[in-house]
Amino acid sequence: MLLQNKKIAIVGAGPGGLTLAKLLQMKGIDTKVYERDFDKNARVQGSPLDLHDDSGLAALRKAGLLEEFKQHFMVGADRMQIMDEHARIFFSDHDEKPEEDFGHEHFRPEIDRGVLRKILLESLAPETVVWNSHFSSLEAQNGGWLLHFKNRPPEYADMVIGADGANSKIRPYITDSKAFYSGVTMLEGVIYQASKTAPKINALLRGGKIMAFGNKKDLLMGQKANGEIGFYASFKTEENWAVNSGLDYADKQQVLAWFKKEYPEWSSVWHELFESAVVPFIPRPIYCMPLDQTWEALPNLALLGDAAHVMPPFAGEGVNMAMLDALELSENLTGGQHNTMEEAIAYYETNMRKRASQSALESLENGERMHSEKALDVMLGFFSNP
Ligand SMILES: Cc1cc2nc3c(=O)[nH]c(=O)nc-3n(C[C@H](O)[C@H](O)[C@H](O)COP(=O)(O)OP(=O)(O)OC[C@H]3O[C@@H](n4cnc5c(N)ncnc54)[C@H](O)[C@@H]3O)c2cc1C
Repeated sequence: MLLQNKKIAIVGAGPGGLTLAKLLQMKGIDTKVYERDFDKNARVQGSPLDLHDDSGLAALRKAGLLEEFKQHFMVGADRMQIMDEHARIFFSDHDEKPEEDFGHEHFRPEIDRGVLRKILLESLAPETVVWNSHFSSLEAQNGGWLLHFKNRPPEYADMVIGADGANSKIRPYITDSKAFYSGVTMLEGVIYQASKTAPKINALLRGGKIMAFGNKKDLLMGQKANGEIGFYASFKTEENWAVNSGLDYADKQQVLAWFKKEYPEWSSVWHELFESAVVPFIPRPIYCMPLDQTWEALPNLALLGDAAHVMPPFAGEGVNMAMLDALELSENLTGGQHNTMEEAIAYYETNMRKRASQSALESLENGERMHSEKALDVMLGFFSNP
């Protein structure tokens, strides 16, 4: 087997890196994951993730973790309402969607990011993840790599996988192509104990998701674990808005005043989101990898997930692509169908780029629709005929 007696280092304990670690360990391969988070209790930011049957769930199935997932996904959190800026409901699938429909291509169960990380972590051999390891650079050594960290001594590995997300520090060792700004920025907020702190929004949400569209701007929100609600104000603006807006993201009143000014037609129903959120809000300019990116495969270094193909979140494919990358990379490295590591990596990366660029295109197109004049109509059509 190509990886016999080889040490594998994965940088990044996101869903992609951890899924790969699990799948490689199942084949008996010596695998470590280096993660900059301080320890396993670090808070994982961001919206819940909906996993798709042929990608995210397929990887979990292969990893033997589907039953565990079924015990921990958020029942009903995939139910959607589409509203306008006045919170009038134009679409809801709350009364028709089954709680559970595993195996159906349109069933996309939601799971909290922290819970998904915990499921994957607990399935790994003890000490697989080396926490508090902030990767900084690579140095070629003895046919493999010496990994350097900001805060710990270097480690040797025969093969390195960059699973370190959108601002990957591994990626520049493989390609100099860079992500471009998609034109959209999302301002993220989180509400703790929403039933108490934001009762009106909590009742409106019904434990599911809301997408509200009005005048080329969006509000997107969803149920998170532990009674929390996550939300995003999503709008088109210049790339450096986060810095140039002049907003103090730790000041709720400033951010609420900004919302009132920039979303003037929107109902005061939405103000509770901003009044109840914990600070700071997080501005997220949304980037996308070039759709035609390509590079020469290396024999001992590969990319997966956002490090390879960050894309806007408007098709819900990012995490699914990352986990499918892990599945396909592990199969190419351990399945016996390739003669060399370089061949295995080249085969995986060629397919991965093609598949991810189709998803990225879909995400970009959805992003355009969702921020267009007719967003409400277009999205209603989209959800009525999935
Ligand atoms: C606003 C927003 C909303 C989104 N919503 C969705 C959605 O609804 N559905 C969906 O599928 N996707 C969504 N995504 C995308 C999704 O979050 C990513 O595609 C997914 O997390 C990628 O997984 P990954 O494992 O490749 O990387 P990540 O999840 O980014 O994990 C990378 C890991 O590497 C670690 N790391 C980074 N740098 C270093 C370093 N130098 N040294 C050591 N460790 C390092 C990080 O701490 C992290 O743990 C969204 C993204 C954004 C920005």
